[in-house]
Amino acid sequence: MSLPACPKCNESFTYEEGHLYICPMCFHEWDKQDQEAAEEALITRDANGNQLNDGDDVTVIQDLKMGKDVIKQGAKAKSIRILEVPVDGHDIQGRIDGFGTLYLKSSVVKK
Ligand SMILES: [Zn+2]
Repeated sequence: MSLPACPKCNESFTYEEGHLYICPMCFHEWDKQDQEAAEEALITRDANGNQLNDGDDVTVIQDLKMGKDVIKQGAKAKSIRILEVPVDGHDIQGRIDGFGTLYLKSSVVKK
């Protein structure tokens, strides 16, 4: 298992000391538990808890109102992109036939 790069200076000379990671380049110290929490927070999961990745195809699991249109349950969103910064609570983007490219919530799709 490789050690994480320093979140402050991005150098990868991190070493472990007890429950801490330490960067010898900028002397930043951070807790291993914080590191795990930060990595977990970066993972986007579908309604079933499966990890989603860029390029995945997903299925919408409930009807979604889009103005006066409705995206029907079972619609496919192709080649999704994970948004690093959510837009209005939407954390993925995907293309749905007839609707174009849309922002979606990972909680309403499954792989
Ligand atoms: Zn550093």
